[in-house]
Amino acid sequence: MGESRFPGMRSRRLRLELVTLFFAKEILVGPAIFSLAPQIGHEMPYVITEACKNTKDRACVDVCPVDCIYEGPDQLYIHPDECIDCGACEPECPVTAIFPEEDVPANLKEYVQINREVFKSPTPPGRPNR
Ligand code: SF4
Ligand code: SF4
Repeated sequence: MGESRFPGMRSRRLRLELVTLFFAKEILVGPAIFSLAPQIGHEMPYVITEACKNTKDRACVDVCPVDCIYEGPDQLYIHPDECIDCGACEPECPVTAIFPEEDVPANLKEYVQINREVFKSPTPPGRPNR
């Protein structure tokens, strides 16, 4: 029988298959991880929501250490690529408009997307008027 004449064949073949699978995973999954990395980095750390619209007092702007809060005609927005997730702005907001993305209330979730998309528009928010 083949298996008795070549007793090491199956384990060698198994090792070869495992090595092949390993390198296939490195080739296929590795680039997938790298391609996800920018998306992970571009997650919305903090989000400004609806309550800013009638306030816009820019208290958050004054404490942001990296100047990543910009002003649109209706409200202020946090740039998702520039925010360092420090949380300094959140307690400064007098109307509780700022949340970490994961804490945005369900009825305001649309603002996660709004904050992200507004910077891709032809007329993105600009430096706040002080
Ligand atoms: S979390 Fe920090 S870096 Fe991000 S907008 Fe607020 S103050 Fe600026
Ligand atoms: S502190 Fe709050 S209300 Fe004031 S500008 Fe910033 S997000 Fe808007």
